[in-house]
Amino acid sequence: MIRVYALCTGYIELDRATMVSDLTPGQPWTVPVASFLVDHPSGMLLFDTGVHCQARLDPVGRLGPERVKRLTVKSREGDDVVPELARLGLRPDDIRYVVNSHLHFDHCGGNEFFPRSTFLVQRPELEAARRPGFVPSYSPSPLDFDHPLDYQTIDGEHDVFGDGTVILLPTYGHTPGHQSMLVRTGKGSQLVCASDACYTRENMDRDVLPNILWNASVMRDSLAALRKLRDQAGATMLYGHDPEQWAAMARAPAAIV
Ligand SMILES: [Zn+2]
Repeated sequence: MIRVYALCTGYIELDRATMVSDLTPGQPWTVPVASFLVDHPSGMLLFDTGVHCQARLDPVGRLGPERVKRLTVKSREGDDVVPELARLGLRPDDIRYVVNSHLHFDHCGGNEFFPRSTFLVQRPELEAARRPGFVPSYSPSPLDFDHPLDYQTIDGEHDVFGDGTVILLPTYGHTPGHQSMLVRTGKGSQLVCASDACYTRENMDRDVLPNILWNASVMRDSLAALRKLRDQAGATMLYGHDPEQWAAMARAPAAIV
């Protein structure tokens, strides 16, 4: 029996046109940041660790002056991964695997709280992050990811528990090594955590990319692959930052499935 829970790990306000690039700039938009917990018989897996709590209290210190010009952290107290896990009666040490979809600050801000977990990150993602300037326009903050953690790099598709229930899918393009996660929850149903390979349903339905990306043509291919999963394989798509979907989603301690 596999259960999946949505955890609220922050809110960010930014210009809607940065997420849906054909819209007119100048519309401020508050979007949720989500992490997902998979309760698998062989261990707990956490997909993304959200925004670090310091970003709410000292945004310039944590995110730097450049990021703060483009976005505002709108999280409330407690919108952090550790208190969210506590709603499920879990502590960080209970988490066997942490998966980072990618290493932007809103997806790995809480990594440092998981010193006993095994981290699963796509190789091009970690390589780019560890060599600032190696990939132009991609420089994740070392404050978020560069801690003494057990990072295991993977290349492409990866079956985490070896039983076909939790599969990491390479969805490169938003960043050099972005990944999504497919969870087969039984009874023929499957969930896909797209993360930032697709911010919102609108991006997928209208085939519009965001402005924030590493490689547009690679990202477009990844978006098409995810759409195929949604439309042909009947998977439920959980978008990366979709306020409308978030408002309707069951959140911890309630399970999505
Ligand atoms: Zn994001």
